[in-house]
Amino acid sequence: MTSQAPVTGETGALIEQDTEDANLHMRHNDELEERKIEINFRRIYQDLKQLDWSKVVWRNVVLFVLLHAYGIYGVWLVLSLQTQWRTLVWSYIMYFHAAMGITMGAHRLWAHRSYKAHTPLRIYLMLCQTVAFQNSIHEWARDHRVHHKYSETDADPHNSRRGFFFSHMGWLMFRKHPKVIEKGKTLDMSDLEADPVVMFQKRNYLWMITILCFVIPTVVPWYFWDENLLTALMVAGFLRYTIVLHITWFVNSLAHWVGSKPFDKSIFPVQNGLVAFLAMGEGWHNYHHIFPWDYRTSELGGWLTAMLNFNFTTTVIDFFAATGQVYDRKTISPEMWKKRMKRTGDGTYDENSPIKWNTPPIKLNTPIKWNMKWNSPIKTK
Ligand SMILES: [Zn+2]
Ligand SMILES: [Zn+2]
Repeated sequence: MTSQAPVTGETGALIEQDTEDANLHMRHNDELEERKIEINFRRIYQDLKQLDWSKVVWRNVVLFVLLHAYGIYGVWLVLSLQTQWRTLVWSYIMYFHAAMGITMGAHRLWAHRSYKAHTPLRIYLMLCQTVAFQNSIHEWARDHRVHHKYSETDADPHNSRRGFFFSHMGWLMFRKHPKVIEKGKTLDMSDLEADPVVMFQKRNYLWMITILCFVIPTVVPWYFWDENLLTALMVAGFLRYTIVLHITWFVNSLAHWVGSKPFDKSIFPVQNGLVAFLAMGEGWHNYHHIFPWDYRTSELGGWLTAMLNFNFTTTVIDFFAATGQVYDRKTISPEMWKKRMKRTGDGTYDENSPIKWNTPPIKLNTPIKWNMKWNSPIKTK
C-alpha cells in the first residue's frame, strides 16, 4: 500500500440510470500487485498502537464484545447438545429470513432498485430486514450506495484499503470518515423516502428490532416446544444474529480481497464462491460492482443455474416474479457482459462451465491486512 496515485472522480454505476458505460469505474491497478494473504501479528500490534483511539465508538465496541461472548456461549449450548433440534431448525429459519431481508430486500430491491415489488412483498422483506438488525433499510441503502459510488476511497464506509478488519467490522466501531458523511449527503435517497414501507420502519426501528430480532426468536422456542428461555435467546437470538452479521460483512471484506476478476481486473471486488454460498449469491462481487443494477448480482440466470451457483436469492426473486409480486427485473445481456469481460477481465472465465464456483480458480494473491487505519492512503476528491 505504498502508492500515492491520486484517485479522482466518481467510481461507478449505482443504479441503471447512472450509466451503462462502466468506463467510469476507477482503476485500482496501482495497488493490486501488492495484495497477498498476510496475517502478521506484529503488524496488527503496530497498527493498534498507531490507532487513533479518539475515533473509536466505544459503545459499539462494548456491544460487539458482548454479542460475541453471547454468540460463543450459544455455540457451546449447541455443541454440548443442550439445544433442542427444533430450536436449531427455528434458528435456521430466522437466519434465512434475515438473510433474505438483506440480500433480496435492502440490497437488490432498495439499494440498487434492480427489480420492483408490490407492497405486500415489500412489507414482508422489510420485516425480514428488521430481523437482521443491520440498521434501517434507509441507512443500509445509503451506506451501500456510497460504497458502490466511491469504492475503496475515503468516502467508502468500509473502504477495503484500510485493511481486512476495517472493511469487515472495524468500520462499525469507528467514527465515520468525514468524506463518508459528506458524500452520503449528496446521494439521492428520494426513492426510498417516497416508500412508506421504508419510512415506517425508519420511524419505528427501535421497538421493531427488539421484537423481531430478539423477542420473537426467543419466545417461540420457549412457548411452543418448551426450550429453555436462556438457550433460545443465546442460540436463536444472539448466535443466529452474529452469524448473519459476519456473513454480510464477508461481502465487504473477503469479496473485496480473495478471488478472481473475470469482469474487471482493475477493481478490488472479486468473485468468491465461499461468500456466494454463505450470503446466498452475493459473493459474485466483481460482476456486481460492474453491473450493480442486475437483479441476479451475477451474469447467470435461471433458477437451477442460480441455485447451482449458490445464488439462492435470485431463485427466490424469480419465484416471487412467478406469483406476480415481483416485476421489472433488470438484467444485463450476455453480449454486454461478454464484451466487458473481453475488454477488462482477467481471462479466468470458463464459458463452458455451467457452475462457476470452481472455475475460475481462486487466486490467493491478495494480502489480508488486519490493520485499521483512520486515513486511507488514497484520498477522495
Ligand atoms: Zn462491494
Ligand atoms: Zn451492491
